[in-house]
Amino acid sequence: MTNSLRFCYPCGEQITDPDDAVYLGHEMSDSGPGWDLYAHRAHVEQSGPDPVATRIVARLLIVQALRR
Ligand SMILES: [Zn+2]
Repeated sequence: MTNSLRFCYPCGEQITDPDDAVYLGHEMSDSGPGWDLYAHRAHVEQSGPDPVATRIVARLLIVQALRR
């Protein structure tokens, strides 16, 4: 893991609290290794309505629920 800044994908604000960052997935880039997508916990549900993103979020929520 790096200490690079994380930005909320739905709202575009910086995520300052690591515990508030929900990993959405990795986005590929033509010009580099791409980047990881994050969202504030409160904004995860706003990352839709893209069906792919919705599916990723649903899977994430299931994984997180199982870890508790
Ligand atoms: Zn946000």
